[in-house]
This record gives sequence, C-alpha cells and structure tokens, in this order.
Amino acid sequence: MADEIVRSLAYDGQVRVSSIVCTEAVEEARRRHQCSPTAIAALGRSMASTLLLSWGLKGEGSITMRVFGDGPLGGIICTADADYHVRGYVQEPQAELPLNALGKLDVGGAVGQGELYVAKDIGVGEPYMGSVPLVTGEIGDDVASYLMTSEQTPSVVAVGVLVDTDYHVRAAGGIIIQALPGAGDDILDDLEEKLLHVRPVSTLIDEGADAKEIIAQYLQGVDVQYLETHEVSWRCNCDRERIAALLKGLGKEELEDIREKEGHSEVICHFCNERYLFTDEELTALIEELAQE
Ligand SMILES: [Zn+2]
Repeated sequence: MADEIVRSLAYDGQVRVSSIVCTEAVEEARRRHQCSPTAIAALGRSMASTLLLSWGLKGEGSITMRVFGDGPLGGIICTADADYHVRGYVQEPQAELPLNALGKLDVGGAVGQGELYVAKDIGVGEPYMGSVPLVTGEIGDDVASYLMTSEQTPSVVAVGVLVDTDYHVRAAGGIIIQALPGAGDDILDDLEEKLLHVRPVSTLIDEGADAKEIIAQYLQGVDVQYLETHEVSWRCNCDRERIAALLKGLGKEELEDIREKEGHSEVICHFCNERYLFTDEELTALIEELAQE
C-alpha cells in the first residue's frame, strides 16, 4: 500500500479523523539510521503522529514533535511540512530492550519518562508550542494526552509499526479520532464501544488496508465525510548550501581552527545521516566569504 494520509469528518462534523499509512517512509528512516526494532517502532509511531498532527499546515508551515524520555533511546525528533514530507531520528537508534510482559516491543520502556513537545507553525500567524509529561512513552497515549491538554479535545490515538524478523518495516501508520469541542457524550460512548472491537492499526495495514480502510474499520457504521487524500513521503531538506551556511555560522576563527587542526570538515545531518565533506580548499572559500561579509 502506497504511503498516504486521509483527512475526514464524522458524526456530522463533530469528530475529526485523520489516518495514515507510512510504511515506506518509516522503512526509509530505519534504513538510514540502522534502527533496532524497538527504536524504529518508537520513531515510526512518532513520525506517523507528527504527520497526523499536521492538520492545517500551509505554505512554509511545519510541525516538529520531540519526545524526550530518560530511557535508552534518548530523544526522538520528527518534523513534517505542509507537503506531507516527514523526517525524523532517534538519538540512540541501536538501543534495544527485551520484549515486554505482553511479548511486544517495549517502546514505553525504551522511551522512559519525560516530556512530549510539539511546535506547530501553520505558516500564518504565531507558531504554537505545547508540551505534556509522557504518560506511558508508548507515543499514542502521549499524543492523546497532548491533545487533551493543549486542545482540550478527547481523542483516540492509535499508531503502530510492525517490524519483520529481518528487521525491515512491514507496516506503519495510525489514526487520530478527535472529538471537537461541543461533541456530545453519546458520541464518545459510541466511539469507546467501537474501539473494543478494532484490531491493531499495524495489523490492518499489514493486511493491505489503505488510509480510508483504516477509518472504515475504526468507525464501522458511521457516516464519514472524506475531505482530502495526500501522498506522504520521507524527505530531508538538508543540502550542501544549508550545511555551508551552518559552517559559516560557526564564525571565521572557528573555521580557521578546524582547517588548521583537521584539514577538512565532515558534517553529518542528524535527520537523514547524509555526510557532507568540505575540503581544505572549500573551507578556505567559506572563510574568504565570511571575510567579505
Ligand atoms: Zn538531512
């Protein structure tokens, strides 16, 4: 199933529903960062959540989600833009824990306790920043807590990654069902009842469900108004020019110091693991540019 995101409304517009399939984007992240199964489960759930939360981004808008726990994975950072490009990394991609008591990847244990931060710049007006303490570190629960605290909306968040025995990502995606302000208690009761019977979102995707089918499975018998479907993909916006600007930001003296001691500079983009090499001559050119500014 191709990576895609769907935006929709249900219960006569009282509930907002987004669903996503992002198997290929998460596999790209796993491949680039050589993630352990638990690390890619945590990173993939975070990537899916970031895109699901990106509702409303325009133009140059972007959203960044940071999960800072005290577990062995360290921090997780994901960003998405208005064109549904996503990228992300985890500080300790090789960290791994034994399976939890349920025989599942122990994402909560690997993330640990800490905070979830969301910074959303929709592209117009002031950027929004919010944070909540992590509830379980399983990501889905934490994002639901974030929506309850920051937007005062009760939400169901299910995000999942299915990792194969050879470590590649078999399925990744999720759904956010968000009761908008004023939604009746009967709707919440109805939702609660439906959720008792639905299977894990990664299982649905593994069986071939697309984003609309995920919604249909979660909201059986509910009238859903589909608004938009978009392609989703992994992309990092780093390039040589940006890295050169970063190096110049270190200042003339620091660059001269690097040239003197190392003879070159190798910069690795955290998000995509791309390596950028600047030779002695190239560093000299940057230093000369700085001298002329
Ligand atoms: Zn990059």
